[in-house]
Amino acid sequence: MQLLRPFQSEGRDYLFNGSTHGLLSLDRVGRAVVDYHMQHGGADPETIRAALSSRFTATELDAALLEITEEGVFGAAPAGPPAPTRQLPLSTMVLHVAQDCNLSCTYCYADEGQYGGPKKLITAETASQSLDFLLASTNDKVHVTFFGGEPMMNWPVMEQVILEGEIKAKALGKKIDFSFTTNATLLTEERVDFLSEHRVGVSVSMDGPPDIHDANRPYKNSGGMGSYAMIEPKVKMLLARHKTRPVGCRVTVMHDRADVVRIFDHLYEMGFAEVGLSPVTSPSDSIFLHPHEMDQVLAGLKILAERTLQHALKDEFIGFSNITNLWQELHAGLRKTYACGAGLGLLSVSVDGKIYLCHRFNGVEGFQFGDLGAGVDWEALQPFMAKVHVDAKEPCSTCWAKHVCGGGCYYEALTRLGDATVSNSHYCSFVQAWIDIGLETYARLWEGNPDFFDKLAPRKPMEAVWPGGKE
Ligand code: SF4
Ligand code: SF4
Repeated sequence: MQLLRPFQSEGRDYLFNGSTHGLLSLDRVGRAVVDYHMQHGGADPETIRAALSSRFTATELDAALLEITEEGVFGAAPAGPPAPTRQLPLSTMVLHVAQDCNLSCTYCYADEGQYGGPKKLITAETASQSLDFLLASTNDKVHVTFFGGEPMMNWPVMEQVILEGEIKAKALGKKIDFSFTTNATLLTEERVDFLSEHRVGVSVSMDGPPDIHDANRPYKNSGGMGSYAMIEPKVKMLLARHKTRPVGCRVTVMHDRADVVRIFDHLYEMGFAEVGLSPVTSPSDSIFLHPHEMDQVLAGLKILAERTLQHALKDEFIGFSNITNLWQELHAGLRKTYACGAGLGLLSVSVDGKIYLCHRFNGVEGFQFGDLGAGVDWEALQPFMAKVHVDAKEPCSTCWAKHVCGGGCYYEALTRLGDATVSNSHYCSFVQAWIDIGLETYARLWEGNPDFFDKLAPRKPMEAVWPGGKE
């Protein structure tokens, strides 16, 4: 049976087919057909026709059944792509250049950037080997994401990788590009000009107005001194000087500081091209969002989605990336079978050249899958990828939202549930409610200004959208 989600938007009925990502507008006959089909264990068209013949004319039923049949509602659900049986060519390498940070964020999963080990910077030689490893992929377009700690703690090697990567990629006839997320403390005009000249994508980790940001993101060994005052002018300088790529902001929302509308408004007014919010990942109940806070967050996200929609209907863009990314994915019919690209086209390389599933698993025992010398250990990675395929997890395999959600971040599952291969069942109702908001607003945009979808940037299925993981 197909995974169906009927919903209403402005009094109209729609049907989202979670198996195919088809969206159908339903009249009253169509709605009755779908309801009967769902309430009677996937009843077939003939059974439905007989059951509803006293309520509707034969012509009405024929038209509704034809349209719903064409949408594939009565057929078997199409199988998604199976788990890969061989390593996919690498397209994105998350390169840990600095196992060190100058901040001490209260929620940092990386132990103040050190991942439970000593401070360490990647050497120029290991960074160069990492580039060769990435460029040996059969992909013609590859991407490096610098990661830390704070990546700019190792600025000389970042510069080297960018310059060397461009030369090596050109010699091989390939395209390479670079991005990273920074705490902004180490930005200078000279560095921003370099980043702009080389079209490096920059996102800033910032958590909102001073009271929230400073409570979340104090300096290390400072007695809790917040970083807002230091970074604000640097962020403004970055926004003014980085001319070649839009600059985004990544927000971590944590316990007790979850007013997402106030957070978004503050940051968007600063001038970021887009702002995306992610929940904190932590096993600690003094940090993670409690259920009543998740409800508040959802209510705030709904307000922001509605506001973004009202502007989109007037052909105006608001960079609330949680909803614009979701709309784009729905519009593209992107059917995820994994939460993200980790272990597929995306892998992470640590400061000492070890290969991990993704940046968050850096140094986590059991999640190293090779090293730069020996390459990717596909024999070890393959069973993991088979287990985290959305159809291999319960209750994901029968969830109507599975091809939007993908089953959730593996690191979140490990942190909260103790097993990276299980579904993130602790936030299913939140994810499904958020996707419902996405569908409801998507339908109104589809009716009111369908050309707007052309304005949304194509989205890579590399990272889960809220709350699956951070970008
Ligand atoms: S994690 Fe929950 S919401 Fe996501 S696909 Fe699985 S069951 Fe559905
Ligand atoms: S969603 Fe989770 S597992 Fe996937 S890349 Fe992001 S942090 Fe890693």
